[in-house]
Amino acid sequence: MSKPIKPKTKDQTKKFMEMIAKHNGWKLSRDEEFLDILAEGLTTNFNRYGYYVCPCRDGDGDKELDKDIICPCDYCKPDQEEFGHCYCGLYLTAEFFETGKEPQGVPERRPL
Ligand code: SF4
Repeated sequence: MSKPIKPKTKDQTKKFMEMIAKHNGWKLSRDEEFLDILAEGLTTNFNRYGYYVCPCRDGDGDKELDKDIICPCDYCKPDQEEFGHCYCGLYLTAEFFETGKEPQGVPERRPL
């Protein structure tokens, strides 16, 4: 039997996002309202699945099938290298952040 999920609060998720950004030398989106929406989505996904599925994608509920889209996902770095930020626009490179530009749409890199 699987272990029950210990629910996360949105504040805990925000701390997680900050920790991931700091650890990797990334910046978070400067749009606070948008960050709040992403934190809400990540928290909902964590409390549903037990892991942080990308808030911009649909999880399968199977950790093995979802493992490439557990935040920060496998596509984060290649998207940052090409576009300066991840698919959701949550994690920005420091260089992109410095430009002051807003994240734009990124084509889905995940194989369908
Ligand atoms: S696209 Fe961004 S927010 Fe979504 S899982 Fe990847 S790193 Fe996380």
